[in-house]
Amino acid sequence: MVEPLRFKGKNLPCFRRAGAVIGLGALITGCTITPQLPRQHMISAANPLASAAGRDILRAGGSAVDAAIAAQAVLTLVEPQSSGIGGGAFLMHFRKSDRRVDAFDGRETAPASIRPDVFVTPDGKRRPFRDVSTGGAAVGVPGILRMLALAHKEHGKLPWSRLFDRAIALSENGFPISPRLHAMIRRSKDLRDFPAARSYFLTPDGRAKPAGSLLRNPALADTYKRLASGGAEVFYRGDIARDISAAVANAARNPATMTRADIAGYRAIKRAPICRPYRTWRLCVMPPPTSGGLTTLQILGLLEGFEMARVPPSSVQAVHLISEASRLAYADRRRYIGDPDFVTVPVDGMLDPDYLRHRAERISGSESMGKASPGRPRGTENANLADDEREGFTSTSHLSVIDRDGNAVSMTTTIERAFGSRLMVRGFLLNNQLTDFAFIPRRDGRTVANAVAPGKRPRSSMSPTLVFDADGKLFATVGSPGGSRIITYVTKALIGLLDWKLDMQAAIDLPNHANRNGATELEKNTPVAAHADALKRLGHTVKIGSLVSGLHGIRVSPGGYDGGADRRREGVALGD
Ligand code: GLU
Repeated sequence: MVEPLRFKGKNLPCFRRAGAVIGLGALITGCTITPQLPRQHMISAANPLASAAGRDILRAGGSAVDAAIAAQAVLTLVEPQSSGIGGGAFLMHFRKSDRRVDAFDGRETAPASIRPDVFVTPDGKRRPFRDVSTGGAAVGVPGILRMLALAHKEHGKLPWSRLFDRAIALSENGFPISPRLHAMIRRSKDLRDFPAARSYFLTPDGRAKPAGSLLRNPALADTYKRLASGGAEVFYRGDIARDISAAVANAARNPATMTRADIAGYRAIKRAPICRPYRTWRLCVMPPPTSGGLTTLQILGLLEGFEMARVPPSSVQAVHLISEASRLAYADRRRYIGDPDFVTVPVDGMLDPDYLRHRAERISGSESMGKASPGRPRGTENANLADDEREGFTSTSHLSVIDRDGNAVSMTTTIERAFGSRLMVRGFLLNNQLTDFAFIPRRDGRTVANAVAPGKRPRSSMSPTLVFDADGKLFATVGSPGGSRIITYVTKALIGLLDWKLDMQAAIDLPNHANRNGATELEKNTPVAAHADALKRLGHTVKIGSLVSGLHGIRVSPGGYDGGADRRREGVALGD
């Protein structure tokens, strides 16, 4: 597809395109330099076909929510490892006319039959993640379609039925398997143990279907036709719900019970967003059950007393300070955040400026504090105890949209692990989101905040974010995948945009680093990896690895919409 990939006035965004060496040639061939940024609308998503589907809906006069739905329908097909209609999502929405911000929660829920010790061995240990994440036991009731339907009811402009056209055509005619999808299929050896996934993703002799080969998904086309004509309800009642229930019950591994009543009873929730200032800006984030927004705001709040604008981007000092703030925030995150319909999350206490100022006193410019302990924010008299932490960072997807009316969407969407549970129903994969619960539900005789319970939503790290300027005008929409590192990726981009005044692409391009109250992780083959020794001298334990974010964002600049897509994945920002 030949599209102007990005609308950039600067050359920095082009320096790593397709591995091109920086130079004039790369500038000419590697990216499109246009004198003007798009002013009408824009979408940035993780796959060019999904971005194009969203952009075409925007061109047809669709709203940001309409474009997000069309893009999600295509992502389910072309980036099936990351997200889909068998999973869940969080969507932040800004309506320009009255400056209203809504937070839509489409997180999966645990079925009624679930037992709190579902992920515990008979002798009280964690069951291995790889064992429990495949098959039926970790499948949560998918929430995304009811959430999108709710958002569409309030903020849609085009008919729902039209939003699936592109995805239906691509499912029927086929799409080329992307290099990333191919690599993920190759890496996910256990796909071959699940018949529907095996025949879809593998060749008859058991190899990953090659990159560039055309993949057709008539089953998904049929599902989409039903959804287009019957609405999201078609998914929650009738044949599709019956098949989901059967797939979970008959799974070759970890068969489990998800009744049709569990599915029919799913409820998407419109929550009040959490909005707080950061310097002259105002950030609106997704509230729990995700820990993402709250933890991002804590990190920024802890850094408020430091003049980050004067700290050079990606310097030793920058990595040190952000890591120290992250330690403190992740310690609180782990202890206090769970599904707010089940536990009291002390949101106001955790974001109290006095609390954060006091806690930030632990940050020294010259020495790491090591492992941080959780604080005692207001409202924690009945504090739940810390639970466990898990890796997981190769799936999930984020998309950002601004429509012609200036309304915006920031949506992070996931089936959890790459290819989720591996159970495929009617052309889509079911999630394994329930492994985002704490595996060990009780510690020291007390139930942890993120313990498994029927009807409960597992804690997430997804951090879809909206940023407003001092006048209350939309400044940016951004978010990322990356498991529990999502928070660090989004924080990096926000500091890049707000303190270092970078454009969206440059903020996304900043090298990743993460500290989840343990080692300081540095992105390999980037300038921050060279800081390893200096950080060790400050007392950090350092790990170097691939920190694969998938940041997709749009900044509203005086010249127009300045979009960015993460080169670590395959996305693109498209606008007019
Ligand atoms: N399931 C994770 C969450 O909701 C996201 C996983 C990922 O980003 O790979 O936080």
